[in-house]
Amino acid sequence: SQPLAQSDPEIAAAIEHEVLRQHEGLEMIASENFVSQAVLEAAGSVFTNKYAEGYPGRRYYGGCEFADVVENLARDRAKQLFGAEHANVQPHSGSQANASAYMAVLQPGDTILGLDLAHGGHLTHGHKLNFSGKLFRVVSYGVRKDTEVIDYDELEQTALREKPKVIIGGGSAYPRHFDFPRMRAIADKAGALLIVDMAHFAGLVAGGVHPSPVPHAHISTTTTHKTLRGPRAGLILSKQEFAAAIDKSVFPGQQGGPLVHIVAAKAAAFREALQPDFRVYAAQIVANAKALAETLASEGYRVISGGTDTHLMLIDVFAKGILGSEAEAALGEAGITVNKNAIPFDTNPPLKPSGIRIGTPALTTRGMKEAEMRVIGRWITEALDRRNDPQTLTKIRGQVLELAEQFPLYGWLRHPAPV
Ligand code: PLP
Repeated sequence: SQPLAQSDPEIAAAIEHEVLRQHEGLEMIASENFVSQAVLEAAGSVFTNKYAEGYPGRRYYGGCEFADVVENLARDRAKQLFGAEHANVQPHSGSQANASAYMAVLQPGDTILGLDLAHGGHLTHGHKLNFSGKLFRVVSYGVRKDTEVIDYDELEQTALREKPKVIIGGGSAYPRHFDFPRMRAIADKAGALLIVDMAHFAGLVAGGVHPSPVPHAHISTTTTHKTLRGPRAGLILSKQEFAAAIDKSVFPGQQGGPLVHIVAAKAAAFREALQPDFRVYAAQIVANAKALAETLASEGYRVISGGTDTHLMLIDVFAKGILGSEAEAALGEAGITVNKNAIPFDTNPPLKPSGIRIGTPALTTRGMKEAEMRVIGRWITEALDRRNDPQTLTKIRGQVLELAEQFPLYGWLRHPAPV
């Protein structure tokens, strides 16, 4: 057995260059983060070798005694972190968590009511090309055109008219808090269950700086790799009455063996999120997002819904005559990674939308605060305003590198020589 660098230099080099890429740029994709050494170690552990179909104490394979320790710790920590009655830590991803949650309480052909993708929802909330749109009858709710905030009156009318079996809260590009008590009241009135997908803001909930859906929703799902800062995976929380149905729906319903190494990494991340300093981290994510949104607004850019309550913001760059795709490319040249994104009532096509989505979880993990956000905000607007001037973009890239060097990432990993 040889180290990767010797046995497979091509893959080893790609990993080393990815370390450097993550270190040298400003990662502002709202759904990304940097895990700790502890989480990386667990994810890279020998548990990748182990089959453990079933649940602790009820496995279909021998030799699961330590896998049971890992999964029990992960479940207990998840329940403690979110005040949940039941946790299933096995979903391989957010999409599989949602598929399992839906199949626990729905039959194909049933109606679901989710936030429109174009208004900040997620593919798994009913997009026609996704399993959710193929298996279920989909109706959507959205934001008001004037406020760009969810229109709960419309949501209620739609729910009472369409009688969905499930209402889905949460999304991927909605910068405001959801009103969970109101959504639960609407679900109760319409005879629906409430499932909240808190994938984006789960870390803010864990850190106590965002309302929790867990007391209100029958089932809450999440990814573990966004604001929650764990490995790339999923998690389902529920009321006790859905526990058996959820567990059956994950295994054998959607998955075979759990990724025990990733379950171990989730457990490590939940432990970190239970520490007092995670609350400081979560509060800083939101403070940073507010500082950045204010800077962009003061530089003349239109922030969707007028600001943010969370870790992310949507900027209407088309109001300045710039397509989201152009903005993404120019910022990429300047060393700032964001993604193009549709804005509510977008008149441009999905691959050339009117907006960009920007988030602060990853840079906050690096230790950046409001002062850095104000500087970065001005670089963003300078790069956008002068997007056709390669010299300006190169100059900003140099400034980005200087800032990145002040907030080193994974200093204990080997950095290759710059190429
Ligand atoms: N749910 C929401 C709200 C998301 O934003 C995402 C990912 O972007 C997912 C689910 C899907 O997670 P995954 O990419 O792990 O399948």
